[in-house]
Formats: sequence, structure tokens, C-alpha cells
Amino acid sequence: MSTAPATTSILLVDDQPENLAALKAILVDESYRLVTAASGKDALLRILSEDFAVILLDVRLPDIDGFEVASLVKQRERSRHTPIIFLTAATDDLSAIYRAYAVGGVDYLLKPLEPEVVQAKVAVFVELHRRGEQIKEQAELLRKAEQRRRDAEVEDLRRAAQARYQNLADAIPQCVFTAKLDGSVDYVSSRWLEYTGLAFEALRGWGWQAAVHPNDLNQFVSKWRRCIESGEPLQGECRLRSRHGAYRWHLCQAVPERDVWKRVVGWLGSFTDIDDSKRHEQERIHLLTRERAARAEAEAAVRRSELLAEASSAFSASLDEASVSAALVRIAAERICTWCVLDLRKEGGACRVAAAHRGRDAARFAERFGPREVPLTEGGVGAVLTSGRPDLRVECAPRDVARALDIDDPGEIQELGASSYLCVPLVTRGNVLGALSMVWVEPGERFEPPDFAVALDVAQRAALCLENARLLRLTREAVQIREDFVAVASHELRTPLSALVLQIQGLTRAVGRSDGGLPAEQALVKLSQAEAQIERLTRLIDTLLDVTRINSGQLELSLEDVDLCDVAREVAGRLESELERAGCSLDLDIPESAIGRWDRLRIDQVITNLLTNAIKYGRGKPIQMRISVDGKSAVLQVMDQGIGIAQEYIARIFGRFERAAPTSSYGGLGVGLYIVDQILRAHGGSIQVESAPGMGARFQVALPLPPRAAGSPGPLGERPGSPLTGPAG
Ligand code: ADP
Repeated sequence: MSTAPATTSILLVDDQPENLAALKAILVDESYRLVTAASGKDALLRILSEDFAVILLDVRLPDIDGFEVASLVKQRERSRHTPIIFLTAATDDLSAIYRAYAVGGVDYLLKPLEPEVVQAKVAVFVELHRRGEQIKEQAELLRKAEQRRRDAEVEDLRRAAQARYQNLADAIPQCVFTAKLDGSVDYVSSRWLEYTGLAFEALRGWGWQAAVHPNDLNQFVSKWRRCIESGEPLQGECRLRSRHGAYRWHLCQAVPERDVWKRVVGWLGSFTDIDDSKRHEQERIHLLTRERAARAEAEAAVRRSELLAEASSAFSASLDEASVSAALVRIAAERICTWCVLDLRKEGGACRVAAAHRGRDAARFAERFGPREVPLTEGGVGAVLTSGRPDLRVECAPRDVARALDIDDPGEIQELGASSYLCVPLVTRGNVLGALSMVWVEPGERFEPPDFAVALDVAQRAALCLENARLLRLTREAVQIREDFVAVASHELRTPLSALVLQIQGLTRAVGRSDGGLPAEQALVKLSQAEAQIERLTRLIDTLLDVTRINSGQLELSLEDVDLCDVAREVAGRLESELERAGCSLDLDIPESAIGRWDRLRIDQVITNLLTNAIKYGRGKPIQMRISVDGKSAVLQVMDQGIGIAQEYIARIFGRFERAAPTSSYGGLGVGLYIVDQILRAHGGSIQVESAPGMGARFQVALPLPPRAAGSPGPLGERPGSPLTGPAG
């Protein structure tokens, strides 16, 4: 190895400038760099800042002497091997020389200096220094070469290990990856690239998220981030999109890689395709769920049919509405809910008829809700009663149930408890007969869809039985009415018949008398009385025939121009003697005319009936008959001041055989108003009544006028009056 001649630094230390100059002159050499110091301190400063091949050190120095300088130089690690040649005067004693060696000097030169000796000695140490430097350099080169060799070896080993590791990663069926400390992926095995069809550049960092199913992404990424923060291993599932676009379930497992200080330096992970096993598991769970559901359904079906059988037999055990209602609430409270109430429709509203509680005394609990009116409100049970649609509140509070059941004090329900509410209608043949409101009380208890179906079924069966019970009641009532009617009709027919028989017997006796018989005048009177009874009989029979005709839909009208005022006057004239007999005056308030297209005889029948009733029930008080025209109709009113009609009868008196007055005091078939109503309906007209017991009655008939006649007879507008009630339906 060739080295360029290096300049070697030599330190010359002497306090005498002429000595330093002499030394410099002696040691002139282009390969030397001569550094001078004029004192011990100066010398030490130089030594601190630079390395020297050799130091020529004068023993006598003004500040720190040469020995001290030498010992300080030797104490310092860096300069301890620097050879020191002491310069001593020949006059100095030997002890100085010994001391020079003792403090580490390698040689000494006596002054005055011998140039050749100085040069030779210095040359030796310079050479020694240079060699030493060379050796150091070579050692450094060797060390570096060794280092490079080792580095190369380590690199080779690393590459081999990495190649092995990657080969291993590529050989296994999982998608393997490594990630940095922050979780960003910096390596993926080829299986990943193959599976996703994406390039490494697309997957690196957080790019792999593009392959995760959107529905799984958030959950998976947040789990991964939590692991990155905590250093806990990751285990999570997500769907990864294959190169063909299909998603398959993968299990991702990642563990942290730690350095010797156990600090996480990165992550090592894999994705394992678990799609098939997951699918099998899902199928298994699905089948299991289906099987359980089927079993539960079958069990529920058995329970349901048992319940329905029990309900049917309980409902049909009696053909009485109250018993069916009681059975319904009892079964509901035992099998479907904690407590319940039953509301049934009735004329114009509904009534709470029964209630039951699973754990309470039936009679006392029923009393609590008592029979009470239930308004047909727009919400709650009122809405179910009117719409026929069930009302389910899976979760509810006691105040909701109080509102649904129209109970003013929510405290009542609070005490019973309410967590879930179901109200089902009782429907049969399209009619809503009532509503069963059921309540669970414990927080976990609630109505589920199967309960809903069972409740509807039970309610339907109850509805059927209630309807049967109702029909039976109506039939019994109808039979009773008929029986009453037959009794009344027999009585009504027998009265004129008996009178007729008596009159004929009287006549017969008179005709056969020995004194020559009855004078013609008296005979005529008796005959006319008999004729009146025959007329009465005929009227009764006609009335009965009318009822039959109406029932079979054979009421035919023969329409013609009829003046209502004429007919009214005629009827009033005809009933004059009856009015007189009853002691009633009749005040007619009738305009000139009120002409319409009506059946004259039937209109006559309507007015006759109304006036006859006013006479019959009028207690001999004045009667008024008014006719007015209000644009579209002619209005006839008959008002009396008689016994009047109680409110509960008002809507019923237009029904067949319906009577409000006591049969003992007033005769009659109870069909007059029925016929009147039917005749008016056939004409497109109507009848209404306003009355109160003891306050008389006001019957008001409206008959439609033909359009041309509308308003023509005169401005006789309707008189003010109280609201009137008409026949139902
Ligand atoms: P009836 O033959 O019984 O009179 P209607 O059909 O004519 O039969 O009347 C039905 C019922 O209506 C009667 O039984 C009676 O109770 C009541 N009623 C009818 N008109 C009057 C009236 N003007 N005043 C009081 N009650 C009446």
C-alpha cells in the first residue's frame, strides 16, 4: 500500500527564542510540521489541540517546568504514548536526567545540541510515529473490511430470512400481512394480491380497506384501531371482496411484534377464509332456529287449539250474553293477560259489562269497573268499537291504558299496573259487537304477534256466541211481542165484535117483540151503531193487512197531485165526533194548500193515525195541527198535551208492535206509528217526535215536494222547536 508522504507534527518547547530557532533550523524537513511553544502552558495548550509525533521539551521553563508538563502529558489518555525528548543543559546534574526518564521521557538531548544527533533521534521517533500511524490506518482498514464483510453477511442472512419468511407466507393459504407500529400495512403475501386482484400499491397503508365489505368496515377498522392503541392482539371477522367481486368471510388475526424492550414495533397478521365454515355455521343456526321456531309454533298451536277448545266450550255452555261475557273475561285473564275488561256495543254507545283479573277475586274486580257507559271516542277502545280494528301497544304506561279505557283517574290503573296493552274487536258478520281490552302488568310481559292472533280468535268465537245469545234474546223478545200482540189483537178484535154481537142480539130481540117490534128510527140508530163496529173491525183488519203488506215489501203507492191541507181538513172533519167524545179541541193552523205527488189514501192514513193517537193519549187536552212549507218539503205537525213518551221509548215506538203506554189503560196494536213511518219512507219523507212524560207530544212529518212546487204555496217556514227524534234506521 503506497501512502503519500504525510507531514508529521513535532512540538518544540523552549523559552529561549534562539533555541527554538536553532531547533527549527536543525529540523528543517518538508515532511515535518514544526510547532513551537515558549512555555509549559503554551505547550500543554498545543498538545490539547493536536497530536504530535514527538515533543522536544526543554526541562527548564519559566512557568511549569518540563517534568511537570511531561507528567501532565502522560496523564492524558490521548497523549500518553507521545514520545517526549527532554532538552537539558550539559551542566545539569544526572538527577535531572533520571527524573526525565521517570516522568516518561524517552530520551534526552544535551545542550548545546548536536544537529545530527537531534535529527537522528527525532527521525527515529518520527519514523516510529509514522509506522504507528500506518499500522493504525491498516488496522482501521482491516476493521472496516471486516465490518463490510460482516454487514454483507448479515444482509445476506436478512435477505435469506426475509425470502424464507415471504416464501413461507406465500406458501400458506392465508393472506399474510405485516403492518407498521401505526397499523399501516407494509407487506402483504401474494395470496392477498391473488385474492383481491389488487396491486400491492393499492393495498399498502390503509388501502386494503377498499376490499372490506362496506357493512363490516366501520366495526372492523375501529376494532383494529383499538388494538393498535392498546397493543392487544386482534381477532375480528369481516367480508373481503375477491377479484371476481364476491365477498367471503375472513377471520383476521394480528399480533404485535415487540423489540427486546418489549415495545411494539409492528404487527404481523393474517386473514383466513372462514366463509365456508361460517356459512355452515349460519346454516346450522338457521336450521336450529327454524326447528326451534317450528317446535315453538307447534307447541303454541297445541296450546292455542286447547285454549280455543276451552273457550268455545265455555262460551257455548250458556246462551246468555252475561254468561258468555263472564266466560270471555275469565279465560282472557287466565290465559292471555293479567287483567281485562269487556265493552259491548249498545244503542248509541257502548257499555263496560265485564272485567277479570288473574289474581283477584272475580266478583270484586268486576264491580270495580262496574257496568258503565263507554263513549265512542276517537281513540282507545272507542276507536276499536267503531272501526273494528285492533289496537296493540306492545309497551305502554298505566296512563296510556287509562286513556284507552276512558278512565279519568290514572291512579286506578297505576295500582293495577300496565306494561302492554291489546284491544281486540268482537266482530261477527261484519258487525262490531264489542271490544276486549287486555293488559299485562309486569315490565317484561308483553303481547307478541302469536298472542294477538289467539286473542282475535278467542274474541271472534266469543262474538259468535254473543251474537247467538243476542239473536236468541231477540227471538224470545219477538216471540213475547207476538204473544202479547196476539193477546192484544184478540182483545182489540173481540171488543167491537162483542159490541156487534150484543147490538145484533138486541135488534133480533126487538124485531121479535110481541108489541110489534122496534120503530124504524130506533132500528136505524142501532144498525148504524152496528155498522160503526163493523167499520172498526174492518179498520183493524186493514191495519193488520197493511203490516203484512209492508213486511212482504208490497206497499204500493198510487201517486197523484194531493193537497195535504185538504186531506188534513177532511181527516179533522171525520174525527170530529171522536174529538168530541174525548173532550179535545182541535186547533188547525193550515195554509190554503200544500200540493205534492203523494198517495192520497196513505197520506190520509198517516194523518188519521197521528190525530187518533193525539186523541187517545191526549188526556182530553187541546190538540193542534199545523202545516207549513219549507222550500223542499211540506211539514205537518200534530201536537197534544197528553201523557207524553219517556225518552227510552222514543226511538222504539216506530217499531213493529212497540208500545210505550200501559196496555191496561190504553188499547192498541202498536203498529200505527210503524205503518206511518213506512208510508212516509215510501214517499221519501220522514217522521220525528219530541216528547217527555206528562208534557205531551209533537209529531212532525216531512213530505217531499216536487221541485216545481218547491216554496210555491207561501212563506210558511218551520216554526222553532226543540230537537226531534226520528225512528231508527
Ligand atoms: P198504538 O196502537 O199502541 O197506539 P202506535 O204505533 O200508534 O200504537 O203507537 C205506538 C206507541 O207510541 C203507543 O203505544 C204509545 O205508547 C205511543 N204514542 C203514540 N202516539 C202518542 C202520543 N200522541 N202521545 C203519547 N204516546 C203516544
